[in-house]
Amino acid sequence: MEYFEKLIDKKKEFLVPCVYHFFQRPPVLVRGEGAYLFDSDGKKYLDCFSGVTVVSAGHSNPEIIEAAITQLRKLQHTTTIYLTEPMLELAETISSLTPGNLKRSFFCASGSEANEGALMLSSLATGRHEIAYLKEGLHGRTKWAINVTGLEMWRTDPNPMVTAHAIPGTRHPESLEILEELLKKRSIAAVIAEPIQGNGGIIVPPNNYWPRLRKLCSQYGTLLIADEIQTAWNRTGRWFATQHWDVTPDIITVAKALGNGFPIAAYITSDEIAAHYTRPGAATFGGNLVSCAAALATLIFHKRHNLGDRSERLGNYLQGRLQEIQARCPTITEVRGLGLMIGVELKDSTKGPAPALVDQILESLKDSGFLIGKSGVGRNVITFLPPLIIEKTEIDALLVALEKALEIRT
Ligand code: PMP
Repeated sequence: MEYFEKLIDKKKEFLVPCVYHFFQRPPVLVRGEGAYLFDSDGKKYLDCFSGVTVVSAGHSNPEIIEAAITQLRKLQHTTTIYLTEPMLELAETISSLTPGNLKRSFFCASGSEANEGALMLSSLATGRHEIAYLKEGLHGRTKWAINVTGLEMWRTDPNPMVTAHAIPGTRHPESLEILEELLKKRSIAAVIAEPIQGNGGIIVPPNNYWPRLRKLCSQYGTLLIADEIQTAWNRTGRWFATQHWDVTPDIITVAKALGNGFPIAAYITSDEIAAHYTRPGAATFGGNLVSCAAALATLIFHKRHNLGDRSERLGNYLQGRLQEIQARCPTITEVRGLGLMIGVELKDSTKGPAPALVDQILESLKDSGFLIGKSGVGRNVITFLPPLIIEKTEIDALLVALEKALEIRT
């Protein structure tokens, strides 16, 4: 039996059926280097999705791997019950990058866990238990995180554990008015939202949305949780996307690119809010030595190579070139994003979402050696989240292949 069929059979037999893949015949990825991935047949792909923003500093980044290996050889694991240096150094480094008074981190191992912790902390800090969230948002796969995930596709468990209120998304003209009505009527502990909704289809809010949201939350004693799990660490051209609007949330959650592939996540908050969590708290793999060493090396790499500026510059370039393609291609109804977080929305001739066309384009680009992603409520947004180390010439090659795929399919 062929290697590929063997793996598919194992997947069908041993994994929970929810585990799904892009592509009719997903490549079996075996190696990564810089902006490239290689499959088991030796085919090379330009990675334009970064495992959903994770490998911003490139695959198998030698500096990050070296830092992790050095730590692995010295001491692999203890628990947070003992004192170790990497977690403290990482927390201090993070506090030098965060906006305003956000300086205390609680480390854990995944984005869902970070959001779960942030929501719990909002209850501790406010004495309230209800949450507001946005309809196109995604915040994770644990029970509480699912309850505040508005995006239907990912809202796996329909039975809410907490009282959670969905608010129309950032593009709805009355989103904040509806939120204010809710804040007046109910005791809301926190509003949780992604600064740019990733899985929702790279939805960039109007410029005044986050400043107004910040004001409303402060006015009603509700905490503002920014889920920066996709947007942080220079993805949008700033360390944190909320910095585009000079907003300091009460809690920021981070994961994905922080470890460049090593599992690490955190919620970050102020002295005042953190002071409400004084009971013993621990996470076995939270702040583990190896992930912290990798995360520190990742942040050093980002700083040394100015990945924020690079993301902004190359993101503007890619968006501009995509808009040129849009002018020639009626199927593209919108190009949007910030930095190297970009979505291209496709609609069919009746102006309905075109998810099948998006799938065809993903397949066609895969065959030409480019891996891109998809997102959106209607799964009709082709999504570019390349490693931030991508070169302009590689973006040019991607655009040639994209235009060819669009010509064939439209
Ligand atoms: N929040 C956002 C915005 C995400 O994109 C994701 C993952 N796609 C999560 C939370 C959950 O993160 P994790 O898969 O690490 O639990």
